[in-house]
This record gives sequence, structure tokens and C-alpha cells, in this order.
Amino acid sequence: MKPETLRTHPCRCIKCDKEMDNYLGARGYQPGDGLAFYTQGHYGSTYFDPMDGTSLHIAVCDDCIAAAEARGIVRREEPHP
Ligand SMILES: [Zn+2]
Repeated sequence: MKPETLRTHPCRCIKCDKEMDNYLGARGYQPGDGLAFYTQGHYGSTYFDPMDGTSLHIAVCDDCIAAAEARGIVRREEPHP
């Protein structure tokens, strides 16, 4: 049986809606078999740029990230020395 946190606070992939375990529970998103991202908004968005510290958090499953990178729409950066 999964720990209580994983059962009560799952997260869902923003693209395919797959439900994933969430290792941060109610504190945020850290999906199993996925990645989490957040933004505080920025200039240029007509949807979200509150400039008050509020943030949006999303999760994407590994399958959707891998497929998007294979299609060339995920930007991968190498560390700069
Ligand atoms: Zn997905």
C-alpha cells in the first residue's frame, strides 16, 4: 500500500492527465515518473503575471517530456563552465 501522502495528494500530467505519485504531498509537486515546474509569471503573459509572489505549479509525466523532446520542442541546456 502506498503512503498516505501519495494517495491523498497525487498530481496529474498537464498534457495527458495521467495521475502520478506526488512525493511532496500538500506542499507542492514532485511527481514519480515525471517532472515539476513552476513560474511566478513574467512580462509577456496575458494570463499570469501577478507580481506578488504567487506561483503556478505544473507536473508533466516522463513519457510526455520524452515525446516532446523527441519532437524538438523541449530545450535542453548544458551547464556553462
Ligand atoms: Zn503525460
